[in-house]
Amino acid sequence: MTEFSFYGGVNEIGGNKIRISGKDTSFLFDFGLAFNRANDFLSEFLQPRKSNGILDFVALGLLPWIKGIYREDYLRHSGLSYDKEPAVDGVFISHAHVDHAAYIHHLREDMPIYLSEESLFILKALEDTGIASFSDYTQLKKSFHLVPKKRGEGHTRSKEKVPRDIRIIKPYKNFQVGEFNIKSIPVDHSLPGACGCIADNGNDTIIYTGDLRFHGRRPDLTRKFIELARKSRPTVMFSEGTRISSVSNVTEEEIEKRAVEQVDQARALVIVNYPVRDLDRLITFYKVAQQTGRQLVVSLKQAYILNLFQSKQYPNIGDVLIYQPRRGWGLIDDESFACVENEWMCTSQMDSSHSLRDYRKWERDFLVRDNIIRYKDLQKDPENYLFRSDFFELKELIDIKPEDAVYIKSSTEPFDEQMEINERKVKNWLDLFGIHYVTEGFHASGHANGQELLGMIQEIQPEKVYPIHTEHPEEFDILKDDGIDVVSPQLTR
Ligand SMILES: [Zn+2]
Ligand SMILES: [Zn+2]
Repeated sequence: MTEFSFYGGVNEIGGNKIRISGKDTSFLFDFGLAFNRANDFLSEFLQPRKSNGILDFVALGLLPWIKGIYREDYLRHSGLSYDKEPAVDGVFISHAHVDHAAYIHHLREDMPIYLSEESLFILKALEDTGIASFSDYTQLKKSFHLVPKKRGEGHTRSKEKVPRDIRIIKPYKNFQVGEFNIKSIPVDHSLPGACGCIADNGNDTIIYTGDLRFHGRRPDLTRKFIELARKSRPTVMFSEGTRISSVSNVTEEEIEKRAVEQVDQARALVIVNYPVRDLDRLITFYKVAQQTGRQLVVSLKQAYILNLFQSKQYPNIGDVLIYQPRRGWGLIDDESFACVENEWMCTSQMDSSHSLRDYRKWERDFLVRDNIIRYKDLQKDPENYLFRSDFFELKELIDIKPEDAVYIKSSTEPFDEQMEINERKVKNWLDLFGIHYVTEGFHASGHANGQELLGMIQEIQPEKVYPIHTEHPEEFDILKDDGIDVVSPQLTR
């Protein structure tokens, strides 16, 4: 008998953590952060303490208490015991969105993580370019470890990093986790490298959808997933249901068409806000820029991601422009000065190495390229550019001082209090600079709508379906008419 424990993704969107236990093997489908639960307790400056290892997360119900899966440094630091072998044989990461992957930070490094190459790229980008304090995704920075000082007596804090046991899985290739034979299958989603899977242990054939849709740039992938899932004659299916109550979709092609119309009418700078890791959307606005005689300007962070994906089907990093913001001392133009031996010198008279010091190492590698662009360039010929800016980049408007600019919002509608507050702030910034604001129909969700989800499950015909990653599992009940056993999962505490 195969058993299922739901540690997240129950009556909530995201936070998937499902343990599949067979006769002598168990593994996890995803190990993500639950947005709602985290928002209930935490805020920007009220975060779990690292000094308490996993215990703050456990106390708040963010991490389940599962013996034998967490990292040794955190357990031992809190005086807890550490088992020699992992109690769970691996974790399958469907994709690198934080609600599926963020809490692998807490897992022990010898627990195998199975994921696609693209998911690894995204996690690497989060790890290398982010500033979050719990982001040991591909390697584990040993905490609470003292090592002998190189010079002199005594000990110092260790900076050692140990690689995680990462297993890149190829699409459609089978791999074995103990008694389970697993096939990872790419699906269409708003993040590259998203996969569903089929896991089989002889007793049960289990389908996991991860997050998916049919209206992105690769609906053929999701269709093929359904086909393979149907052929496997599954006994159990875990289906996402984010948009089970929605009826319509906006497609990337529609966004492209609408955006071309908007940008064509604009006579000055066009600013667009789309999610930094959504490379389908990057393609959309890259095409919009091409069709309107403009160039797409991306942030250093997006350039870093795009650069990792150069072997895949994405725009060449040399064909976009990379925006250099002012940082630290801000020595990037002839309006900044620094004092050199009692004399205030203009940046242009100084050695350029001084300005590079304001940036992180990974950023400097981009700043020496010749497709770097700065605020003065955007000021000079604003009609030549399509400038990507997210919430945190709004401050660039102070430097750019755009006139008659247009702002296209191509990101999700706010779904919590904090996002609503931030949305109001965006409006204030845009009003301050007299920027025309367009919002309708420029965002495509990463998730299938209700009809598509139900149609998918009817086609796959599992014996039993567990609706997960949804606030409305009851809307799946209609599938009972097709002879499918619909079971609302219960949270395991
Ligand atoms: Zn999700
Ligand atoms: Zn997702």
